[in-house]
Amino acid sequence: MKCSKCNREAVYHARYSGRYYCKKHFNELVEKRFKETVKRYRLIEKGERIAVGVSGGKDSVVLMHLLAKLLERFPFELVAITIDEGIAGYRPPSIEVARRNAKKLGVEHRIYSFKEYIGFTLDETVEVMGSFERGERVGACSYCGVWRRWLLNYAARDVEADKLAVGHNLDDEVQMFLMNLLRGDVARLGRTGPYYEEVHPELVPRIKPLRETPEKEIVLYAVLNGIEVDLSECPYAVEAFRAEIRDWINEMEEEHPGTKYQLLRSYDKLFPLIARTYTKKTGELNRCKICGQPTTGEICKACQFRLQVEKKAREMGLTFRVE
Ligand SMILES: [Zn+2]
Ligand SMILES: [Zn+2]
Repeated sequence: MKCSKCNREAVYHARYSGRYYCKKHFNELVEKRFKETVKRYRLIEKGERIAVGVSGGKDSVVLMHLLAKLLERFPFELVAITIDEGIAGYRPPSIEVARRNAKKLGVEHRIYSFKEYIGFTLDETVEVMGSFERGERVGACSYCGVWRRWLLNYAARDVEADKLAVGHNLDDEVQMFLMNLLRGDVARLGRTGPYYEEVHPELVPRIKPLRETPEKEIVLYAVLNGIEVDLSECPYAVEAFRAEIRDWINEMEEEHPGTKYQLLRSYDKLFPLIARTYTKKTGELNRCKICGQPTTGEICKACQFRLQVEKKAREMGLTFRVE
């Protein structure tokens, strides 16, 4: 098949639009959409300092490359942040991938570890608290998700970033939309829509410049441009529900190309209505009594989890934390 824009051989068929793309025009498609998303929702303003969370996985690495490319034509500052959860065998190689990419692009790179800022690695936490696999109540993903969010915000503030860019793609976004609908958790959908919102002065606003880009195109972009990414999956990840939703959406997309974009558009139309009804305003949020980060209660979830693990570790006679 030939490219729909020129005479070269096509490397990609976008079924949602019916178009074929050669390498050059495929790159143009991805880069242009990224730039337009940033511009349309004013995700980055001139002179702002943007922290990009880079795990070493395809989404965050491609995002860093696109942001670095944008830097060539638009004045802002870029710093990369990697969270080291402390997962032996999985994290160290992906951190190296993040480091090599940042170095290649000349982007400042900082690493923040659970061990240093929370007190335990994720492996140690699982050792103390048990895991789903062993039939215990809270799985590693619960701790990891809460702490990662907390530490990313801590790190973004530490590097004095105005905003935090994360690598969520179109597939992540529509999976999240459907998952929350199916769980009846509509309030959660009012948190991060197409644009960012200043929720609290202590909370660095998040932006998702890849939310309009299908996962498939991110993978192909990395491959075509020789970008090194880490494709291994976290050994603790057992989110069966998300996997079911993902497969179902992919089947729908196969039968009815464009489904993912339609879902995203529905979410974007609903977002302002949901946000208006459910989002807590600055005045309604407290500061955590321990760490100062915003919370609806007295002590934030990250600190609650930390106290829980410390307590159980003490009961077990384990000392991970130097106090
Ligand atoms: Zn072409
Ligand atoms: Zn706290």
